[in-house]
Amino acid sequence: MASRPTVVRTVSALRRALAPFRKAGERVALVPTMGALHGGHLALVAHARRRARRVVVSIFVNPTQFAPLEDFDSYPRELKKDIAALTAARADLIWAPAAAMMYPEGFVTRIEPAGAAKAGLEDAFRPHFFGGVATVVAKLFTQVAPDFAMFGEKDYQQLRVITQMAKDLDLPVKVAGVPTVREKDGLALSSRNAYLSTGERAAAPALYRVLKTAAARIRKGETVEHVLDVSRIEIDVAGFTLDYLEARHAHTLAPIASRKDGPIRLLVAATIGKTRLIDNLGV
Ligand code: AMP
Repeated sequence: MASRPTVVRTVSALRRALAPFRKAGERVALVPTMGALHGGHLALVAHARRRARRVVVSIFVNPTQFAPLEDFDSYPRELKKDIAALTAARADLIWAPAAAMMYPEGFVTRIEPAGAAKAGLEDAFRPHFFGGVATVVAKLFTQVAPDFAMFGEKDYQQLRVITQMAKDLDLPVKVAGVPTVREKDGLALSSRNAYLSTGERAAAPALYRVLKTAAARIRKGETVEHVLDVSRIEIDVAGFTLDYLEARHAHTLAPIASRKDGPIRLLVAATIGKTRLIDNLGV
């Protein structure tokens, strides 16, 4: 049986736990999460294990990336279950700081990402989000000093923002993206899927279905604008309230009108009932 990963809750305990890895010259990969772990997170852990001898998983529901009316208080917290899942996934260390450890009294510094972080996608609906994410990820990178850090393509804009931040700040970490893990019916795994009622859960795979159809139609040569128009209606008909469905340059996330102008990524965010879901797909 795999041994249970050590859970550390202070920066000094984290450093003590990492020291033997470093001393042995072992590479370390970090998987940042907010807990309530599912198969998507565990895919990141599996990828991390392929890259590095040691895998650190952080579990921290980061208050600074939630707006006042978002689901910070109700966000699922399941540390016991998470520890069991990470034992089976053979992670080495769980970094689970309290909010007061991450943001002690007097904390004022904030990273303000631009570029992909201001693409007019998630940032248009959650203006605090990427500042909060970039700040906490910069802290996680400094605390753990990983050789690799794994992020899901599920949160595609976030992956672009973190990749750019690591480059801009010369952070000595290789940021790696991991393909989205989906349910059999196509719905991207997400901790927020737990909020869906039975009826909403049945309707939710429409999001991915529409993305797949749209990508196929663009590949066949239909104009991006026309395909987006039709797809937006399909998402509406499936019972969602659409925040955005956009075609963007896969690297810069700048608007893109045609495949001639570079690789296209389709990105969508929509609410069903009270649950906001996001997804994306390469064309
Ligand atoms: P979260 O706990 O939701 O902040 O997610 C932590 C990490 O897991 C992020 O890098 C996410 O992109 C990634 N992730 C979440 N869901 C999935 C999924 N279905 N497939 C792959 N990665 C995912």
